[in-house]
Amino acid sequence: MTTDEVAFTFEWYGDFLDELCDHGCRFRGYEEDLAAGDVLLRHDVDWSPRRALRTARMEADRGIEATYFFLVTSPFYTVTHKPNREIFSRLEALGHDVGLHFSTHQYWADEPSEDALQERVAAEKAILAQVTDDPIETVSFHRPPEWVFRRTFPDFASTYEERFFSDIAYRGDSNQRWREEPPLEDGIPERMQVLMHPGLWGNRDATFVERLERLMSQTLGRTRRFMHEQFVEKKYNIDEFCDFEPRDDGAAESVVSPPRPSR
Ligand SMILES: [Zn+2]
Repeated sequence: MTTDEVAFTFEWYGDFLDELCDHGCRFRGYEEDLAAGDVLLRHDVDWSPRRALRTARMEADRGIEATYFFLVTSPFYTVTHKPNREIFSRLEALGHDVGLHFSTHQYWADEPSEDALQERVAAEKAILAQVTDDPIETVSFHRPPEWVFRRTFPDFASTYEERFFSDIAYRGDSNQRWREEPPLEDGIPERMQVLMHPGLWGNRDATFVERLERLMSQTLGRTRRFMHEQFVEKKYNIDEFCDFEPRDDGAAESVVSPPRPSR
């Protein structure tokens, strides 16, 4: 099998998708009943909506529909920021679903009451729904605490419910663990949920730590450019921030001249 040795590159990911397609897998949404041959393809967008758009295009090219889960509490991106609103419309135009990536850690150290949880999730769903065409139905917990596993909730579907998590196979790339445990090493399961974090992948292979360092330097490069344009040159020009292609060499984005001190 070509995908037995995992490189965290878009090329490898394309081969992985091709293997599932060649096998006859069907890609489903969380609201559908799952049958033999069905795959739920999920993306938790922890760092980079831009990289999410990259994988979204690769999937659409193959006729695959996935679900992209976004944080509304991320220190790295804001869902209402214009380039990200543009990414949402593109994702939806490509046929993908959007869900809420919810961090319990933003609110509680221990398990909250069900009412408190429902209230916070509803508030975050409302924020995300402002920038998507469809209502938000599904929630994926970020760094899930034990108490969310195999549990159902009255107001939303959770990706860690038994029907998506323990009744079917589960293959997640968290911390790039596919290097040690390739997702298809025991063949293609009859039904499975696949979790792939677009931020961990790139044009060239890189370790988890290298990937995070690059993302940090790119984020810093964009922040620097934004500060310079908005507050030094006072151009208020947002267009440049809509450069959606992910870049692997931090250098490409840090060629921006550093802001000159204003007098
Ligand atoms: Zn996450």
